[in-house]
Amino acid sequence: MAEDTLFAKIARGEIPSEPVYSDDEFYAFRDINPAAPTHVLVIPRKPIPKISDATEADAMLLGKLLLVANKIAAQEGLEEGGFRYVINCGEGAGQTVFHLHLHVLGGRPMLWPPG
Ligand code: AMP
Repeated sequence: MAEDTLFAKIARGEIPSEPVYSDDEFYAFRDINPAAPTHVLVIPRKPIPKISDATEADAMLLGKLLLVANKIAAQEGLEEGGFRYVINCGEGAGQTVFHLHLHVLGGRPMLWPPG
């Protein structure tokens, strides 16, 4: 069930996490295994398993997801050095938790293309 994923439980406060941002629709917390000096995960409280499952009804939510990420990037002081947003979609892309999440990565140079 989408409501039973690790991140759904983290969003409900049933599993501990290090909070970075919270509002009615979104929760953001530090990645437990950071891939950069700053690595924050932003999740909608609504349990959408992966980005390709989003529908027209989620258009506003997806826009707000990016705006919340922008707030976090600014709050974390990432604007000057640059930062990257990542959404992995499906196991082949490295998605391991099937509750939509956006990675905010910064604090080091970002390689292109990504590995
Ligand atoms: P993805 O591979 O895109 O599905 O991203 C899942 C991310 O969740 C990985 O970067 C993990 O390090 C991170 N992660 C897994 N468990 C936890 C946890 N309990 N608290 C914070 N981050 C976690």
